[in-house]
Amino acid sequence: MRLKIAIQKSGRLYEDSIRLLKECGIGIDNGLNKLKAEAYNFPLDIFFLRDDDIPQYVEDGVADIGIVGENVLCEKRKQVEIVDRLGFGKCRLSIAFPKGRDYNGIQDLQGLRIATSYANLLSVFLGENKIKAEIHEISGSVEIAPGIGLADAICDLVSSGSTLFTNGLKEVRVILRSEALLVSAKNLSGEQRKILDKLLFRINAVKKSKNNKYVLLNAPNEKLEEIIQLIPGMKSPTVLPLAEPGWSSVHSVLREDDFWEIIEQLKAAGAQGILVVPIEKMIV
Ligand code: ATP
Ligand code: ZN
Repeated sequence: MRLKIAIQKSGRLYEDSIRLLKECGIGIDNGLNKLKAEAYNFPLDIFFLRDDDIPQYVEDGVADIGIVGENVLCEKRKQVEIVDRLGFGKCRLSIAFPKGRDYNGIQDLQGLRIATSYANLLSVFLGENKIKAEIHEISGSVEIAPGIGLADAICDLVSSGSTLFTNGLKEVRVILRSEALLVSAKNLSGEQRKILDKLLFRINAVKKSKNNKYVLLNAPNEKLEEIIQLIPGMKSPTVLPLAEPGWSSVHSVLREDDFWEIIEQLKAAGAQGILVVPIEKMIV
């Protein structure tokens, strides 16, 4: 039994999707035939598809699981299950106005022509806010629509905002925040579920390792207690005596989010020679 995963064949999710599989120790020869590849050391077949088609393929069970942007999944409204949030492909679906047009609130959308590739998401948003506007559905290059007189505003994906900027637009309202999701078909068999769990176990180890750093530092013994309080570690930190009397080496794991603050406190408490090392995998 093998599990079939659908990923984007090229585009903004491709590299990160492939990297995630590689970091999970899944070996793929992606040779010339880029429609399908078979992992040689894990029961997984990889299908390379347009991102827009992935929810449908997973719903139909042509693929068992898939990696797709939340924006696409929400727009397509397919019956699939969200298994995990992957933390890459982050972007937002936003309304943008031409730079010179005033925006003071949602009411300013009333009666506008808005160009978008996300007609479902936009119409739900407008409906919830009791706004009547004309949705012009176009499939690509939405950002040029106001410039050519096709629309008054757009609703499109934004990450840095540079595309908007170069097209003379400004972001005025976020309607959805999105990231890549791992989705699965609703009725996986027990055997398929087992393979998925194995994959999820690895994905979580990779994700955790990215959110954590391994920290080594030297501490004078009289400050050990104070320093250990600052870094609880997975269980408790490892403390080893240094060759120099009166000093110890402390090893632990810190969450990336708390990292800078704790490092400052450690220094203030007398820690020296602090080393911070990336973790490749983390199984807790
Ligand atoms: P395909 O050929 O597969 O249809 P596409 O052109 O529709 O590709 P991409 O631009 O490669 O799609 O984007 C794929 C996904 O990457 C988006 O659906 C979204 O989830 C995510 N993404 C992250 N940042 C951005 C961004 N700045 N603009 C567009 N998409 C982004
Ligand atoms: Zn697409």
